[in-house]
Amino acid sequence: MSSVAENLERVREQVAEAAAKVGRAVDEIQLIAISKTHDAEKVRAAYGAGQTLFGESRVQEARAKIPELPSNLRWHFVGHLQKNKIRHALPLFELFHSVDSLALAQEMSRIADEEGMHPRVLLEVNVAGEASKFGFARTALRGEMEQLLALRRLTIEGLMTIPPLAPEAEASRKFFVQLRELRDGLESEFQMKLPRLSIGMTNDFAIAVEEGATLVRVGTAIFGERSRPGRD
Ligand SMILES: *Cc1c(COP(=O)(O)O)cnc(C)c1O
Repeated sequence: MSSVAENLERVREQVAEAAAKVGRAVDEIQLIAISKTHDAEKVRAAYGAGQTLFGESRVQEARAKIPELPSNLRWHFVGHLQKNKIRHALPLFELFHSVDSLALAQEMSRIADEEGMHPRVLLEVNVAGEASKFGFARTALRGEMEQLLALRRLTIEGLMTIPPLAPEAEASRKFFVQLRELRDGLESEFQMKLPRLSIGMTNDFAIAVEEGATLVRVGTAIFGERSRPGRD
């Protein structure tokens, strides 16, 4: 089995190759090492190899892990955020990738107001309309955008999606394109900037980079297989 440092090196090379292929600058793309289910020791190994940006998908796990690690590590939240965990989550994460409903956004805004915080968020879109997934439906998002923009405590910086599971990475491309086109449409319709696109995981991050990812969320290719599912 290869080490976390070797894995990271390989993933970085693949990100750079994909960027070069489509003429993008590699520094437009941030690699987030998704450390859910993996212990602090493995995170430290990645940190030792120069990785400072990490992602977690469960608040409880993050609350235990983050304090064990150097304070200059940066953390993004990528999972489904339960409303009763918002208050604990706000101080831990610099970006929330997965605001998946208007109700969650409103509750985050209310709690952020009480706590005097200004969370940065992405809106998670269920592009394929899968019944099993969280996220805004494409049409619903258009309809709810005014209300989302009225939440002055939240800074909405872009969109995120998780495409349907598929054996072939290529299958993700059309969903990434749909997310980017939705983003472009929202930017012109609402006269706003949504510069961040959080797309791409272990299986399809190279495709995501080709299609405009600014954040790729890679777990397995860096840390190895997980012993339990990380997202629920
Ligand atoms: C677990 C997870 C990832 C990483 O998945 P891998 O396939 O292990 O790279 C990325 N994004 C989200 C939202 C996740 O929950």
